[in-house]
Amino acid sequence: MLGRKQPEPKTDSSVEISSAKAVHAGATFRLTVSFMLVVIVAFVAVEGWRTWRDYCSAFASARDSVTNLARATAQHAEDAIRQVDVLTAALGERVEGDGLQRINVPRIHKLLVQQSKIMPQLHGLFIYGADGQWIVTDKEVTPEPANNADRDYFQYHRTHNDRNVRIGEVIRSRSTDDLIIPISRRINNPDGSFAGVLLGTIKVSYFVGYYGDFKIDDKGALVLAMRSGTILVRRPFIASVVGKSLAKSEIFKRYLPTSNEGVAEVKAVIDDTERLYGYRALTTYPLVVEAGLSRESITAPWRRDLLKTGFVLVFLIAVLAVFGLIVLSQLRQRMVMERELRLAHQAMRSMALTDSLTGLGNRRRLDSALLDEIRLAKRRGSSLSLIMLDVDYFKRYNDKYGHTGGDDCLSAVGGAIQQAVKRPGDLAVRYGGEEFTVLLPNTDSAGAKQVAQDILEAIRSLNIEHSEHPLGKVTASAGITTSQPSIEEVTPATLLKSADAQLYSAKQRGRNLWCSAEESAR
Ligand code: GH3
Ligand code: MG
Ligand code: MG
Repeated sequence: MLGRKQPEPKTDSSVEISSAKAVHAGATFRLTVSFMLVVIVAFVAVEGWRTWRDYCSAFASARDSVTNLARATAQHAEDAIRQVDVLTAALGERVEGDGLQRINVPRIHKLLVQQSKIMPQLHGLFIYGADGQWIVTDKEVTPEPANNADRDYFQYHRTHNDRNVRIGEVIRSRSTDDLIIPISRRINNPDGSFAGVLLGTIKVSYFVGYYGDFKIDDKGALVLAMRSGTILVRRPFIASVVGKSLAKSEIFKRYLPTSNEGVAEVKAVIDDTERLYGYRALTTYPLVVEAGLSRESITAPWRRDLLKTGFVLVFLIAVLAVFGLIVLSQLRQRMVMERELRLAHQAMRSMALTDSLTGLGNRRRLDSALLDEIRLAKRRGSSLSLIMLDVDYFKRYNDKYGHTGGDDCLSAVGGAIQQAVKRPGDLAVRYGGEEFTVLLPNTDSAGAKQVAQDILEAIRSLNIEHSEHPLGKVTASAGITTSQPSIEEVTPATLLKSADAQLYSAKQRGRNLWCSAEESAR
């Protein structure tokens, strides 16, 4: 094809609709991706928030638990010791009143037996003389040697005047071999001198049993210690831990000096376990209790839940992603199909409006352009020109050079016409057979004549041999019409008819020339 491709028509509603659809599909694609991202982010955010809240609430409830545990164990220890305290105080009163030398041993023994029977924490009740010799106990037999002068508490009371009850470190009983906590007080003679010691012992196993009843896991800990830090009882109970010191632990060093009760997360000095401890100093006695739950056991249900939630979340996101990807790929396919359809539609449209032989527009193209340009010229008040061209003696050319030769000639003529038409708004079409039309918007009569002249000259310049033509080469004739659609009634038909009439005149006047309403020229 020699001819250049025609520019697409300026406006077309179907093109607008299809490109609008493409924009719509693109927006839907972006919207779907955004929606998926928003849903995933929302999922993660909600679950993250929930998990954080659960973590905080696990610790909050653990704080409550250790506080309650500390309170219960403190109360229990206080009650157990107070009973022994009160009992020894009453006994001391009585023994001092009677005088230690004059007491009725069988009667006091009976009393001690009775008392120890109704106090489950009690291991034994003992009265020692000033030399440490056993005077009376709740036991039936007295072990040999029956002298406790070497015991800590005995030496303390002998050398200290105070009448308060004293709680000692855990010792092993000489009568039963049990681990016991000695609760002792001094007995004075009427003159205030040292008469002996009154001792009540509490079984360590009593506390071990009580602490064992609490539902805390293996990593949890319950401790009863002296204010100095020495351990009296601990759960889990290991005999070797009794007597060890907590004085260097965080709670004794940092927390107890400032507050008698509280909660602290620290590492235990005994077993190196991270625990949340509730601690409490007893109000009446120089003792401290600690109740600890391990960080591991506090977070265990939370971690299990986190794992489950994580699995569900990952599964949901995966399902969402798979569905999203399916939707997106379908959307993408639709977009590709729509684009292909749009391109095919555009190709079809341009094919429908193009002359396949010359590559110029065809008659259908002219028909639509004519209507548009008449309307435009009317609105703008501009002139509109139309040139109709017809190859001279073309029947003879065909007869001489054959139909294929004729086609080649028409193609060359089409190319020459297109090249002679300079302005982008001008439209050259093959009207049919060997006839061509050039529509010149906003062009007056003089301009149209110039264009016609240029076209005829361009065709002549092709120098296509035509032996059956008087001039020996291919020429064409042109009819020109120029109108003012704003001041006269103009339709496509009147324009074509007028140009055709001028073309007829040009043929009549000898061909190879142009004719217009006003004049004609070669
Ligand atoms: P005139 O100078 O008066 O125009 O004489 P003419 O022979 O050109 O006029 P006419 O209309 O009698 O002949 C036109 C011929 O153009 C008829 C047909 O053989 C030929 N023709 C029409 N369309 C085509 C085409 O597409 N290809 C070819 N090769 N020839 C065509
Ligand atoms: Mg013709
Ligand atoms: Mg002709």
